Amino acid sequence: MLIVQKFGGTSVGDLERIQNVANRVSKTLQEGHQVVVVVSAMSGETNKLIAYAEHYTPSPERSEVDMLLSSGERVTAALLSIALNAMGHKAASMSGRRAGIVTDNVHTKARIESIDPSAMHAELAAGKVVVVAGFQGVSESGQVTTLGRGGSDLSAVALAGALEADLCEIYTDVDGIYTTDPRIEPKARKMDKISYDEMLELASLGAKVLQNRSVELAKKLNVNLVTRSSFSDAEGTLI
Ligand code: ADP
Ligand code: ASP
Ligand code: MG
Repeated sequence: MLIVQKFGGTSVGDLERIQNVANRVSKTLQEGHQVVVVVSAMSGETNKLIAYAEHYTPSPERSEVDMLLSSGERVTAALLSIALNAMGHKAASMSGRRAGIVTDNVHTKARIESIDPSAMHAELAAGKVVVVAGFQGVSESGQVTTLGRGGSDLSAVALAGALEADLCEIYTDVDGIYTTDPRIEPKARKMDKISYDEMLELASLGAKVLQNRSVELAKKLNVNLVTRSSFSDAEGTLI
C-alpha cells in the first residue's frame, strides 16, 4: 500500500518525539508499505514565530509571515528525514514547493490549486520514504504560501489525493474522534467510524482535531482518512 502519514505538532514536539515518529514510520516501511510523511512544526513553534513577527508591528506583511511560518514545518521535515536516514532507511525531505503544491496567492490562507506529484513519485521509485513539510505551498509567482492554521491536515489529504494513496493517517495526541473534545468533556465517547458529513459538522463547530478544509477535500476526493494517536497503538477513527 501507499500510505500518507501526517504527524501533528505535539507528536513532533521535541527530538525524542521525532524519534518516536521515525520508529513508527520505520515499522510501516518494514511492513512493506510505501510511505509519504507530512509533518507539522514542533508544538508552539508557529505561535512563537507569529509573536516574533508581531514584535515589530501588529500587521506584518502576509507574504513575509508565510516566509517565516513555513520554516517551522521545514525544520521538522528535515529532522525526521535525518532521523530516518540514521536508522538505515533512505529518506528525502521536501518543502511544499518540491512536493509540487501550487496555491493561489492569498497569503496565510492560500488554497491549493494543483499538485504535481512527480518529484514524490521519483523518490518513492528510488526506494525512499518522502517527508513533506506540511502547511505550505508556492504561488504561481513563486512565493511561499501557507494554508491557514491547522493546514498540515490539508496538506496530508491533498497529497493523498494527488498520489492516489490507499490510506491517509492523521496522527495526533488523542486516539480518535470523540463525540466532543475529550480534553474538555471527560464523558466524551470515542467513535470507531464517522461519516464525512458528521466530521464536517464537528469541524465547523470548532473541533480542531481535523481542519475543516481537509475534511471537505477528503470527502470530495474520497480519501480514506483515519485519525489515531501517535502515542498508542489504539485503532483510531475511520472517517
Ligand atoms: P495536531 O497538533 O496533532 O494537529 P490538534 O491540537 O490540532 O492536533 O488537534 C487535536 C486536539 O483536538 C485534541 O488534543 C483535542 O483536544 C481536540 N479536539 C477537539 N474536539 C475533538 C473531538 N471531537 N475529538 C477528538 N479531539 C478533539
Ligand atoms: N503549524 C501550523 C499551525 O500550527 C500548521 C499545522 O500544525 O497543521 O497551525
Ligand atoms: Mg491540528
